Amino acid sequence: MSNSNSKTVLVTGGAGFIGSCFVRYLFEKYPHYRILVLDALTYAGNTKNFPVDINSYTGDQFQFWYGDVRNGGLVENLVSQSDHVVHFAAETHITRSIYDNKLFFETDVLGTQAVANAVLNHMDTVERFIHISTSEVYGTALREKMDEDHPIAPMSPYAAAKAGADRLVYSYMKTYDIPAVIVRPFNNYGPYQHLEKAVSRFVTNCLLGQPVRVHGDGSASRDYLYVEDTCRALDMIMHAKDDQVRGETLNLGSEVHRDMLSIAKDVIAAMGRDESLIEFIGERPGQVLRHTSDCRKIHGILGWEPQISWQQGLEKTIDWYRHHEEWWRSSLWMKTVPIVTQSGKREFH
Ligand code: NAD
Repeated sequence: MSNSNSKTVLVTGGAGFIGSCFVRYLFEKYPHYRILVLDALTYAGNTKNFPVDINSYTGDQFQFWYGDVRNGGLVENLVSQSDHVVHFAAETHITRSIYDNKLFFETDVLGTQAVANAVLNHMDTVERFIHISTSEVYGTALREKMDEDHPIAPMSPYAAAKAGADRLVYSYMKTYDIPAVIVRPFNNYGPYQHLEKAVSRFVTNCLLGQPVRVHGDGSASRDYLYVEDTCRALDMIMHAKDDQVRGETLNLGSEVHRDMLSIAKDVIAAMGRDESLIEFIGERPGQVLRHTSDCRKIHGILGWEPQISWQQGLEKTIDWYRHHEEWWRSSLWMKTVPIVTQSGKREFH
C-alpha cells in the first residue's frame, strides 16, 4: 500500500477503449501513481492501447496483468494492493449480445461480483471503487432528460447484463457499505474505439469509401460524449471526498441527443464524402429510441461538464483513424455481426 501521494490504481478492462484512455490519462497526469491493468485481451482488448510498449517497458509506473476478471483469486490479489479500483472490464457490444449473450452475463455480472467481493474483503484499504455501468440500463428515455432516478429498463442482453452488475454493486453498497460509486456513461466515442461501434465504423467506412449503414430510419438518437471528457470525470470522482460521491450513482453525458442519421451525415460531411454512401438496413432488435442525459448531479457535486464539443471530438476522432490504419485494419472483419432482425431477416449489423 502506498502513501497519500503515491496511489495504486487497479483498472480492469484497461486494454479496451475507455479503460485504456483512462490508463493513458492517469499515466500522464500522475507519474507517481502505480497503475495495475487487469485485462483478458478479448477481441476488444489491445496491448497497443497502453501508454508503454509492454515488450520493452521496465518501469514501476505501469503493470499489466493478463487475466480474467472472473478469476476471484487473481482479482483479490490485485485489489489487495490497490487504493482505487476502476472496473471497466465487460463484454460491451450490443449487437454481439443479440448474436450470442452467455459471455455477457458471465463477464459483466460475475466479473463484477468478483471485483465487488474483493473490494468488500479489502474495505480497510480500498478508498474508492468506481463501477463503470452504462446509460443502456435505462432503456428508452421516458422523460426529456434521463436523471439517475430514471427507471431501469434494459432492452438488450448487454444492457440487462450491465443492469445486473449495476444493481449488484448497489446491493453491496446498501448491505456492506463498500466504498463504491456507480458511474453511468452515455455513448462514448473517440480514438482506439473498436470498429464494431457506430462512430468508428462510420469513420473507417468513409475512409475506405464503403457504405455507411444506418439502422432503421436512423431516427434512434444517442447522447455522445468524447472519451477524454469521461476520463476527466472519472479522475474527479476518484479524487473526490468520501462525503461527495461515496454510495452515489452518477450520469456522464453531454445532455444533447443526436439521431443516428445526423451522426452519419456529420461524419460524411466532416470527411468530405457524399451522402450517397448512406444505406438503410433493418432496425436493430431491442433498439433504444432515445437517450439524453441529465448530468446536473455530477455538475452540482464536482462541477464537471464536458469540454469537447461534438464537432471538436469528431475532428479529433477522424484525424486519429486517418493516421492509425495499422491499428484498425486487422479488425475490419469484425465491423458487423450477423443477427436475425424482428422481421426474421438475417442481416449483418
Ligand atoms: P471495450 O469493449 O472496448 O473494452 C472492454 C475491455 O474489457 C477489453 O479490453 C477486454 O479485453 C476486457 N475484458 C472483457 N472481458 C474480460 C474479462 N473476462 N476479464 C478481463 N478483461 C475483460 O469496452 P469500452 O467501450 O471501453 O467500455 C468500457 C466499460 O464502459 C464497459 O463496462 C462498458 O459497459 C462501459 N460503457 C461503455 C460505453 C461506450 O460507449 N463505449 C458507454 C457506457 C458504458
